[in-house]
Amino acid sequence: MRIAQLLQRQEPFLSLEFFPPKDRAQWPGFFDVVRQLRDLGPLFCSVTYGAGGSTQHNTLEIVTRMKQEYGLEPLAHLTCVGADRARIGSFLSGLAQAGVDNVLALRGDPPRGESTFTPDSEEFQHGSDLVSFIRQDFSDLSIGVAGYPEKHPEAPSMDDDLERLRHKVACGADFIITQLFFDNDAYFDFVARARAVGIGVPIIPGILPVQNLAALKRMLSFCGASVPEGYMSDLEHVHKVYGESGVRGLGLGYAKSQIRNLLDRGAPGVHLYTLNKADTCLDIWKDFLRRDGLK
Ligand code: FAD
Repeated sequence: MRIAQLLQRQEPFLSLEFFPPKDRAQWPGFFDVVRQLRDLGPLFCSVTYGAGGSTQHNTLEIVTRMKQEYGLEPLAHLTCVGADRARIGSFLSGLAQAGVDNVLALRGDPPRGESTFTPDSEEFQHGSDLVSFIRQDFSDLSIGVAGYPEKHPEAPSMDDDLERLRHKVACGADFIITQLFFDNDAYFDFVARARAVGIGVPIIPGILPVQNLAALKRMLSFCGASVPEGYMSDLEHVHKVYGESGVRGLGLGYAKSQIRNLLDRGAPGVHLYTLNKADTCLDIWKDFLRRDGLK
């Protein structure tokens, strides 16, 4: 089912992001996590697209299995990296054949260590180019795009970035998923500014329960998100005293209170960056149900 349609239900939801494990030997364990997290009743499950664009067949295979074997509603990520019409067309036809109705259209990041993105083709330079192509040639798909509550790192200003986002939506995007953030005010300011420039589609907040300090710092170095000073010093402190288990505990508590506050203040739902880990998400889910008085 198209996510655009699912979002009309207007009930708070959780959705989940996974990444395809590189090593095929890890796939049984990965699908075991998927099976466990199916119990959360996620609105949809997204699957990332390898940074170099070289592992697109893994994304395609995983979304196909999620749909056909696990009865989940998948969202396949797709980037402009290494893209040409034939390659993108074959990926999108693969989705259609598998009965997958949703795609997240992205530009992709510059290669590690580089700060500027060099497009591989004239035709696909920005996320919006992908959105236009999909809307025209694969019009049945529901299309999501990325949004940045703290601005995309390459954008000269928030106003400029919002104008680019408005254009992506005008090209045919149905919904927006945000980059991770740790200050809910940044999300609500972003939504207000987006509405003010005429962006009307749902904006789903992306939440990362921090599980590992080094991995967090690596992500922050390229994604443009920031961590409130007090939270970062608490993370550093528990890491020093208790190691990664302390980081996981603090990260889980922070994510739970962030999610409660987002939903209380009217966010439509929450997209969890699972990092392919079941336990943290199951714990958050219990909290989510308690909040809604469901259990
Ligand atoms: P764009 O919308 O093209 O924007 C990129 C930059 O260009 C911005 O600064 C924007 O302001 C500017 N811009 C846009 N249009 C124009 C224009 N016409 N002229 C000039 N400037 C313009 N990466 C992966 O490799 N695989 C994934 O699976 C993946 N999943 C992601 C999921 C989410 C929810 C998010 C938030 C990000 C994800 N990323 C992924 C990372 C993403 O590829 C990067 O953030 C990338 O740097 C930008 O992608 P975009 O689609 O937002 O690009």
